Amino acid sequence: MEVFFWGVRGSIPTPGKSFAVYGGNTSCVEVRVNNHVLIFDMGSGIKNLGDSLLQRKINNFDIFLSHFHYDHTCGLPFFKPAFNSDVNFNIRSGRKDMKKVLGDQISSPSFPITLKEFKANIKYDNFKVGDIITIKDNIKIFTLSLNHPDGAVGYRLEYDNKSVSYITDHEHEENVKNEKLINFITNSDLLIYDSTYKDEEFENYKGWGHSTWQEGVRLSNYSKIKKYAIFHHNPDNKDNVMKEIEEEANLTSNNIMVAKEGMSVKI
Ligand SMILES: [Zn+2]
Ligand SMILES: [Zn+2]
Repeated sequence: MEVFFWGVRGSIPTPGKSFAVYGGNTSCVEVRVNNHVLIFDMGSGIKNLGDSLLQRKINNFDIFLSHFHYDHTCGLPFFKPAFNSDVNFNIRSGRKDMKKVLGDQISSPSFPITLKEFKANIKYDNFKVGDIITIKDNIKIFTLSLNHPDGAVGYRLEYDNKSVSYITDHEHEENVKNEKLINFITNSDLLIYDSTYKDEEFENYKGWGHSTWQEGVRLSNYSKIKKYAIFHHNPDNKDNVMKEIEEEANLTSNNIMVAKEGMSVKI
């Protein structure tokens, strides 16, 4: 199993020199399990992933959506495989009205095309949050409801005794041990976690639906996480700030990394 980070930024893409090291594209993570591709979120990072899938001639895959905020869906109309009639994929989410919500995002006068323009065979599959989804080769996907405005779903992928947890966007409650989340992610080989803020500034952002990198450290300790990837970077945090966070995080443990666009992790 290998995890590729195509988009690691939160809220809005941040192009430009000051963001070049950690990356400016919004949430999109690819997990390759044997020959199967799973994609978590369709932020602006999915544009480059789409080009790579076509190049690699990968015509079947599964997309899992955490939620429908623009930073997690804005890449879909620029995802070239969606316009290729040889391609088949599922988009899965915890909303029954997924197709309507995506259709409203991609329609006049906000956008010049509609979902009807897609030529790929796309299935819009909704699940009940809490369901366990099994796909090819007995890959299991567990789902959990997160604390975020309009809701969000956290995922845990398990295959052959290996696991990756994808937990974004989520706001924690200060000084509360979230047993449900701790159990859900327990013993993950990789935890990808919403680390938009620092503990020191969290007070100013209560109710915004995000967490802190230090909360990710606490969860990692409770859950015996093997590797924790700081993710969904604050769009205000230029490379110099991200580097400071990385240095501080590395002092707390050897098992922390800051997700960078273009990075991959073998599990
Ligand atoms: Zn987000
Ligand atoms: Zn969100």
